[in-house]
Amino acid sequence: MQKPIFKRIILKISGEALAGKKGFGIDPDTINSIAHQIMEIRQSGVEVAVVVGGGNIWRGRSSKDMDRATADYMGMLATVINALALQDALEKRDVPTRVQTAIEMRQIAEPYIRRKAIRHLEKGRVVIFAGGTGNPFFSTDTTAALRAAEIDAEVILLAKRVDGVYDSDPEKNPDAKKFSDLEYIDVLNKGLGVMDSTATSLCMDNKIPLIVFGINEEGNIKKVVMGDKIGTYVKG
Ligand code: UDP
Repeated sequence: MQKPIFKRIILKISGEALAGKKGFGIDPDTINSIAHQIMEIRQSGVEVAVVVGGGNIWRGRSSKDMDRATADYMGMLATVINALALQDALEKRDVPTRVQTAIEMRQIAEPYIRRKAIRHLEKGRVVIFAGGTGNPFFSTDTTAALRAAEIDAEVILLAKRVDGVYDSDPEKNPDAKKFSDLEYIDVLNKGLGVMDSTATSLCMDNKIPLIVFGINEEGNIKKVVMGDKIGTYVKG
């Protein structure tokens, strides 16, 4: 039997990935498939923390006339909606799950407490980090980098609609070339659309490796965790 190559991971699921083919909101089949895959890797003994995005519901930077901070707080709330949906899908599969929010909402989730999150992971619970960093002008990719550094995760798995990092947008350019390995400095210098520069710098400074892969193909999360080389590997 294949053994996982990681002990503790951060799985970043973008809002877009949760929307499936619909492009907006939460697609039930997609969230069920993701929950099933998380259950599988959890059963293989990996400690799993998840950071969810919110772009399937709201993105602060797309709101033209609004005050940016207000729009960003709306985006952070969107991530909480996604987190609760994922918690529900996981608990339907008997996976014990805790949601921790960076902005307190004690009636629906725990506040983010680093030591408590680590304790949940050690006890085999999946921890979902919602509400981003709790600060406007940041992203959930930056949240993934920050939480990975805080809880000492070995890697960030960046689950995307596209199956890796390309030299141009593969949805627009059929000749786009996929990278199998990259360094963070290349991502910054070439301006590759992997993560925003804040998230990229944080990963680079803290030497947190990143694997970018496609979520649409069932079983991909398990493949990555078992060490099958799919997607793009980025190291510091
Ligand atoms: N957001 C924020 N601070 C954070 C994380 C997120 O203000 O620390 C807001 C921001 O408006 C962002 C939205 O939440 O556009 C949704 O997050 P993101 O765009 O990272 O989600 P994804 O693209 O992964 O779906």
